[in-house]
Amino acid sequence: MSLAGIRIRIAEAAARAGRDEGSVRLVAVSKQQTDSRIEAVLDEGQRLFGENRVQEAAGRWPGYRERYEGISLHLIGPLQTNKARQAMEIAEVIESLDRPKLAGTLARLAQEMGSCPELFVQVNTGEEPQKAGILPGEAEGFVRDCREMDLPVRGLMCIPPAEEDPRPHFAMLRSMGETLGLEELSMGMSGDFEIAIEEGATLVRVGSAIFGERTPR
Ligand SMILES: *Cc1c(COP(=O)(O)O)cnc(C)c1O
Repeated sequence: MSLAGIRIRIAEAAARAGRDEGSVRLVAVSKQQTDSRIEAVLDEGQRLFGENRVQEAAGRWPGYRERYEGISLHLIGPLQTNKARQAMEIAEVIESLDRPKLAGTLARLAQEMGSCPELFVQVNTGEEPQKAGILPGEAEGFVRDCREMDLPVRGLMCIPPAEEDPRPHFAMLRSMGETLGLEELSMGMSGDFEIAIEEGATLVRVGSAIFGERTPR
């Protein structure tokens, strides 16, 4: 696959769902990819990227920001509270707000720094014990608490269980977004982004289908 191929598939999925192609944004997930692959995608015009580790993102993106205009970086992986400040400094969006303790830390730092990236609440739609995220039944209270702390919560994110049909999970996230008044839905990866678009994704996070297999760190 390639960036151009993925863009075509996004447009086709949007058309099938009766949606405007512009209502779906592509987050190119560059974690564990080589500089040459990332530069090729930047040179093709992609500006929205996702990274799952603060350290890796901080090593790479400040340099690219000097060379390319208009880069937007989304943090999509689990965030330790001791890395929260650095994450807030390098990312436009943190998609992995997944627990009350992190919300408290972000709120305190936002006060201190006078700014905060946009935030998505990660929902553990499959209620998997090993997976990060707010349980569906707790999302409403959690979002309310975040709003009371003045955190800029804009959307929801999910990673469905690997072995299940993702569609019901995407549908659940969409309905939660409607209930909570959150417009952004980050859902769908290389294997299922077209289904996610049919179910209302506004952001799809695609890595290996654009860049190829990841090289281990
Ligand atoms: C790695 C990752 C992706 C991209 O996965 P692919 O299968 O390579 O498209 C998407 N979302 C999250 C949270 C990830 O960690």
